[in-house]
Amino acid sequence: MPNNLFSQHTELSDAILESFKTLDQKGFIMVEYIWIGGSGQDLRCKTRTMPYKEGGYKPSDLPKWNFDGSSTGQAPGDDSEVIIYPQAVYADPFRGGDNIMALCDCYKPDGTPIDNNTRLACAKACQEAEKEIPWFGIEQEYTLFEADGVTPFGWPKGGYPGPQGPYYCAIGKENAFGRHIMEAHYKACLFAGVKISGTNGEVMPGQWEYQVGPCVGITAGDDLWVSRYLLQRVCELFGVIVSLDPKPIPGDWNGAGCHTNYSTEPMRNPGGYAKIIEAIEKLGKKHEQHIKAYGEGNERRLTGRHETASISQFSYGVANRGASIRIGRQVEEEGCGYFEDRRPASNMDPYVVTGMIIQTTLLD
Ligand code: ADP
Ligand code: MN
Ligand code: MN
Ligand code: MN
Ligand code: MN
Repeated sequence: MPNNLFSQHTELSDAILESFKTLDQKGFIMVEYIWIGGSGQDLRCKTRTMPYKEGGYKPSDLPKWNFDGSSTGQAPGDDSEVIIYPQAVYADPFRGGDNIMALCDCYKPDGTPIDNNTRLACAKACQEAEKEIPWFGIEQEYTLFEADGVTPFGWPKGGYPGPQGPYYCAIGKENAFGRHIMEAHYKACLFAGVKISGTNGEVMPGQWEYQVGPCVGITAGDDLWVSRYLLQRVCELFGVIVSLDPKPIPGDWNGAGCHTNYSTEPMRNPGGYAKIIEAIEKLGKKHEQHIKAYGEGNERRLTGRHETASISQFSYGVANRGASIRIGRQVEEEGCGYFEDRRPASNMDPYVVTGMIIQTTLLD
């Protein structure tokens, strides 16, 4: 990315914009339609006006819409329309008031899903496994970059900060870089209705984590995708770039993951420990398939160092942060609870990962 690409724009006045934000909307709301773009990692959005509705909109109350798929790498130019179906509704923390966001998935005009619609299969798996009441808690790690796109946030330009150690869960100007973003994003998630459950500074300076969950079934993927949308929008406001690359800086710097914590009702109930081990053994038998679906570039992260397990060897253990799967100490003591799949990369698709965990542990 060329230097200063994003910093050369004229400064737009937030104060002037603020005076428009409080204007009355005269009985109408703005609905931000959000969908996953052609890379399977980019998020796109566009807005339409709808009349204000007492009690609010459910996804099924909102009209389907379409966009130009030839501009997002999702359809050919001569048959460019992709149809978006609203699937989940959230409050819009940027516009406030009664304005909402609608997370959508993508279909062809004939009603079949487009190739990179990963939500549909996940929703189907969640439905088939419904009586097990699967819960997911996802730990999203992310790395902030200066507006130049190459300097991790808070790092000296062209150089390196001191080695890792003081940055995890840190405070202090010399250790914690980008707290504004973490705070704004947390509030945005709470306002929107995303089930954010916590946050912390990460091991690599400029890296942060937040957790979403526990969420039941498909809502884990929905909430995580919307949380990523909110994160990128918050960063846009602050003039900072967010990266979900699994190993943003090579060398002795931690990568970024998306640990996926999982349980079913039988695992959570007394005696659930046996169910936990059973599920983990099933995951071990499909290690390669799971690794293939757990995020692009994950081989740069899963080296067996920096709190990861080797990409080529499945392992599990109690309290072991160097294993593919970790069981918490407390879970072992209580004999029930959940386990943590530490393999997914920060850029993984939560629909793919949660759907696959359900498929392997419950449906196959
Ligand atoms: P770590 O110790 O690995 O850093 P975190 O506290 O960051 O763990 O994240 C743990 C996640 O697990 C949270 O999102 C939490 O909501 C989730 N979680 C807690 N209990 C369960 C459960 N029974 N099933 C699935 N997820 C759970
Ligand atoms: Mn147009
Ligand atoms: Mn964590
Ligand atoms: Mn972490
Ligand atoms: Mn974790």
